[in-house]
Parts: sequence; structure tokens; C-alpha cells
Amino acid sequence: MRLYNSLTRTVEEFRPREPGRVGLYTCGPTVHDFAHIGNFRAYAWEDLLRRHLEARGLAVHHVMNITDVEDKIIRKAAAAGASLREYTDRYTAAFFEDARALRLLPAHVYPRATEHIPEMIELVRRLEAAGHTYRSEGSVYYRIGSFPGYGRLSGLDPDSLRAGARVDADEYEKDDPSDFVLWKAQKPGEPAWDSPWGPGRPGWHIECSAMAMKYLGESFDLHTGGVDNKFPHHENEIAQSEGATGQPFVRHWMHCSHLIVNGEKMSKSLGNFYTLRDLLERGHEPRLIRYLLVGTHYRNQLDFSEKALEQGRAELSRVDNAAERLARLATVERGEARLAPRVEAAREAFFAALDDDLNVSGAMGEAFQLVRDVNAAVDRGEASREDAAAFEAFLADADRVFGVLRPWQPVEAAPAEVLALLDARQAARAAKNWAESDRLRDAILAAGFVIEDTREGPQLKRRA
Ligand code: AMP
Ligand code: ZN
Repeated sequence: MRLYNSLTRTVEEFRPREPGRVGLYTCGPTVHDFAHIGNFRAYAWEDLLRRHLEARGLAVHHVMNITDVEDKIIRKAAAAGASLREYTDRYTAAFFEDARALRLLPAHVYPRATEHIPEMIELVRRLEAAGHTYRSEGSVYYRIGSFPGYGRLSGLDPDSLRAGARVDADEYEKDDPSDFVLWKAQKPGEPAWDSPWGPGRPGWHIECSAMAMKYLGESFDLHTGGVDNKFPHHENEIAQSEGATGQPFVRHWMHCSHLIVNGEKMSKSLGNFYTLRDLLERGHEPRLIRYLLVGTHYRNQLDFSEKALEQGRAELSRVDNAAERLARLATVERGEARLAPRVEAAREAFFAALDDDLNVSGAMGEAFQLVRDVNAAVDRGEASREDAAAFEAFLADADRVFGVLRPWQPVEAAPAEVLALLDARQAARAAKNWAESDRLRDAILAAGFVIEDTREGPQLKRRA
């Protein structure tokens, strides 16, 4: 399989460190608000990447962090008069609910930043010992001039590095490569943890370095995010991790282009965003939203519009119609499987396209060509029950990656309290607290729902 590597700026053969196993770190949500569908473009593409790696037989260990402490969160929690945890729990639960609605495979670990402060402190200490830091007024900064590779990922001109200039903000301007903060001294009224430098909190970038290395090791295969994460976030992650360990942090970096509306990046700050909830309330099917999110090649901008929704709806119904026509046929006609070799060729071409840096348009093109051929065969009266089975098997395989080619059974809408119990059960299971997980399962049962564990995570069904 060949994948573009942002570090080398070329499409390369993807070779995991250990044959057959892949460590994947995806930068997760900053839980200060509902995620918008621009964010979900990143998560949906990462889901497609993971599913394709798995379809090719690789065992993926997927870690997605939950950023639950940084500038914006602290500001907004204070404005809402809520504790950090109360405030972020609300949006973390909303994130999991949206991710389930879009059928994103759950990560194996969802580390929360606030539950890994000791690991972050330890990493800052290692950087201090290695001479990459300096202190000022209770804060600790990374001296980017001390790390020769700084700027390699984002292609910064080394001459633009301004010695001594530093920033405290978690997010900063693209053209401002400055020393950045690792540990921030507490300001009045802010949440803080004890540290060797006094009370304070971690900077955003150190969070991901510490959690990625804890769960995937000092050196791992794949790290992804939206293209806006490249600088400063991922550049800083590399400097922090490699500065401390002396090992290459990540072998293969991948970034998706933005989802845009009317020519502009969808973002909270521009106010041009929709959440998944907005779209579902307007009556759009979650399946259609997922189709649009995964249907554009990840390195191209995704233009999200009414027109794209229309077109996507028409494309999905063409696939459904062909499958239905064949299914009806399947009950009456018997005969030779004349289409079977055609279906086999389509399957090969479909997966070969995905092997080529996740060429989704190529793969979908194959699927749609097959749909046309199937329809033509039905029109000519040349399709049989065996053909129907072959086509159905193709859709099932292709759908293990895309997750949209077959109609979705509506998921039973469970009340928010029950969903909250389900999230708590997932957390208990992640912490291997089986007694608590059993207790929560019983509470869910008492509320009238049973949990079915599926590949796409636990689903709730109303109790019969
Ligand atoms: P955040 O919660 O802001 O840290 O963003 C979460 C993820 O969404 C990151 O991987 C971002 O790069 C990505 N992201 C943010 N806005 C967009 C957008 N308009 N299109 C695609 N990805 C985005
Ligand atoms: Zn990150």
C-alpha cells in the first residue's frame, strides 16, 4: 500500500515497524463545544484509513486523545460557571454520540489530557535534562533553536526562526515560529496541578506527545490530523518527542485538507460551521453525511454544499436501486453467474485504487461502473441469483471500508441519560473496571435498553 507522507512530501510504500501491526495516533477533539463537520471530515477520513489498513489484514492499534484542558476550554468553562470536568464531559459525550452516528470505529484508547498530567510533567523534565528548555516566571518554554530538525515537517525556512521570541498561546499564527510553552504557570482563577516548576498546567502540544508515546511507544507508525495541525502542533510534537528520546517519533505523517464552505475553511472562528446535529435536524441522513465526508480524496479540499448533498443522495440511491433490483431477481431467476468475473475484477480494482494513497474517487468509480453493468445485465435479462449474491458480497467487502454502500438500519434513539450510561460503561471497560461496567450494563437494562457490541462499537437496542 502506498500512502503520502507529509514528512517526505512523497507517496511512499507504507511499511509498519512490526510486520502486520500498525500504531495509529489521531489528534482528537478539543472538547470546548460540539465538533463541526469540518472536524468530522478529519475523523471520517482517519476512519477510512484505519478501515482500509484493516481490510488489508493489518492489526491497527488506534489512539485518539481527548484534549480537555487548553486555553479555550478554560475560558469557556469559567464563563459557564462550570468546573473543567463538568464542562468537558458534556462535549466529550456529544463527540462520542456524533462519532457513533457517523459509524466511526471507536479508537482502542481515548486518553484524556487531564488524566495524564504526570506523564506530561515527566516529559518536560526529560526535555529540561536534555537542555531544550528554559524557565520564565513559573512557565517552561521549548527553545526551538535547540532542535536542529525544527520546521522540517511544515517546511519552514530555518532563517525564519526567531531566537528568543516566545508564545504562551496554545494556538498561534502560521508564520510565527517561536519558542512555545510546555508548562504554563497558573494564572489567578485557573485550574492547576502541582509540578517541579510550581502550580500550572501543560501546554496543548505536550499533551499529544506524552499520550502518543505512552500508548504507542517512543517511535510509532502513523500520526494524522487536519492540515492546520501541521504547524505549530505537529511540528512541536516532533520537537518535544524527539528532543526527549533521540528516536524518530513518527515514521509516517498524514494530513487531510480542509472541508470548506463557500470557498472558506469551515471553522468556529469564522462562524461558517454546521454541527452534525444541525444537519440531522434538517433531515439529512447520517449515512449521506458520512458518504460526503469520505467520498473526496483526503488531500483535496472538500466543498460542502447543498449541491454536494443532492448529488450524494442521487449516487447512493443508484447503488441501493441496483442492489434492490438484483435482490428481487434473486428470488426468481437461477442460472449461470455470468457477472461473477465482472464483479471480481471490480473488487480487485476497487481495493487497488485504495492502495494507491486512498484513491476514493477511483474506488467509487469502480463501484459505480459495476452498478451500471449490473443494471444493464438485469435489463438484458442476463443476471441470476448467483450474480446477485456476488454483487451483494462485493458491496459488503467494499463497505467494510466505506461504511455507506448499504442502507443503514435506523439506530434506535436512546434518551440522553442512557447514552451517558453507555459512555460511562465504555470508560469503565477501558479502565478494566469490570464490576462497574457490569453495574452500568444493568442500569442500562433497567432503563429498557440492551447493549449489542458490534464492530462499530456498542449499539443500544430497545429491550424486547
Ligand atoms: P480541533 O478540535 O480544533 O483540535 O480539531 C480537531 C481536528 O479537526 C483536527 O485534526 C483539525 O485539523 C481538524 N479540522 C478542523 N477544521 C477542519 C476543517 N474545516 N476541515 C477538515 N479538518 C478540520
Ligand atoms: Zn494532537
